Amino acid sequence: MKITCLCEAVNEVDIPAVYDVDADPAVVGRILDGSFMSFTCTECGKLIKPEVPVRVSSLKRKFDIFLVPEIERGDYLAGKTDYRAGELASSMNRIVIGFSELLEKTRIVEAGLDDRTVEALKYYILVQADETHPDAEASVYFRELKDGKLVFHVDGLKAGEVGIVNVPMDYYEKTTKALDGLKADDPLADVIKPPYVSVSNAFEPYE
Ligand SMILES: [Zn+2]
Repeated sequence: MKITCLCEAVNEVDIPAVYDVDADPAVVGRILDGSFMSFTCTECGKLIKPEVPVRVSSLKRKFDIFLVPEIERGDYLAGKTDYRAGELASSMNRIVIGFSELLEKTRIVEAGLDDRTVEALKYYILVQADETHPDAEASVYFRELKDGKLVFHVDGLKAGEVGIVNVPMDYYEKTTKALDGLKADDPLADVIKPPYVSVSNAFEPYE
């Protein structure tokens, strides 16, 4: 694939349509440290990070994630693209939009968590943030599983400050069980519906 750098040099880079984690387990580490799909311009030496659609999949670990470029978020959500989630049998087949969602989804997979529950917890955190800070535009991200707690970061409540919310594992498990009995008109139903399992479905209408 040809990628044009800001310096106008054209670089030939190798981006497969599918990154097979079983064949190259280091892909996960590269997503987590931010070096995934990063290339150095042969002309000026700057880092190029083309956000192009790719699949990251693992038959062994049962996930198949399709990355939609952030720039196509609106078109994807409006049904104007042909992008489809991965289709590995009996695996977690998902859409993510943009590198930051790919990173977060990978953290969730690495922690062995159910992404539907994680997005549901993010929804509760945002609803609570809206009650305490009605004028703020908060966003929340899963960071890690630490000492038996899910650690979330909340941006946008106070300028320049990241809030931290810890959710105990037993609350996570209770929430997971509750998702099975969810009614169709519950706002969470849109959040946990595959393939785009995301809290943003509850807050960002694209008509
Ligand atoms: Zn360059």
